[in-house]
Amino acid sequence: MMNQPSYHPSLGVPAAPLPPNALACPWCDCPAVPSPVAQSCAGCRRRFTLSAGPALDGSVMPAPYHPAAMRIALKWSMVVTYGFATLEPPGIHSGTLDPVLAVAPIEQTSIAYGDVVSIAVWRKVAWGDCIAATLLLVPLALLAAWIAILAVTKAGGVAAVSAAIALALGCLAAWLYRRGIVVGRRQARIVGRWASARVPFETSPAFHEELFRRCGIARPLVP
Ligand SMILES: [Zn+2]
Repeated sequence: MMNQPSYHPSLGVPAAPLPPNALACPWCDCPAVPSPVAQSCAGCRRRFTLSAGPALDGSVMPAPYHPAAMRIALKWSMVVTYGFATLEPPGIHSGTLDPVLAVAPIEQTSIAYGDVVSIAVWRKVAWGDCIAATLLLVPLALLAAWIAILAVTKAGGVAAVSAAIALALGCLAAWLYRRGIVVGRRQARIVGRWASARVPFETSPAFHEELFRRCGIARPLVP
């Protein structure tokens, strides 16, 4: 649909062809069409949202530039180095930080809000949390509950303590399942005209909100 080189209305110069992943499923790169609500991929069936940005849809207007706009910075650990993404007043900076102090960018790209072609958001299950809850906390909670049941007629104190431990472990397991499945690992893929970025943002709901607001896109719910 929009894969032909087109003219940017405000500049009147030929724009670059769309990056190939701008209109694709973030899981498997099957072609996808932007939609205001979450969709399932035609190829891999997994869920995501895909929103058209100002550089794709002329009706999407980025928020006016504000030099004092809040700076929202995210940093995450990769295998050796650290990744970072920052919402600055004019756009998104993202890249890799040095492996020693994790402060100096060793590779960096910038995307102006008005150059955003599309944003995809998806959520992966945090398997580590679910496995820890299933293999460690749930068996221990059941063991404590079992001890409480065995001790209830003979030793009331032991039974009460065991029941309290079982309850605490059960709550901890529930919290880990929530963190693993409901919150999950939230990812955003921001495709700009000249560069793209991939940001895990589950630690910062503000990043997600501000990213969409500054690009002028109505923010869909996280799928
Ligand atoms: Zn897919």
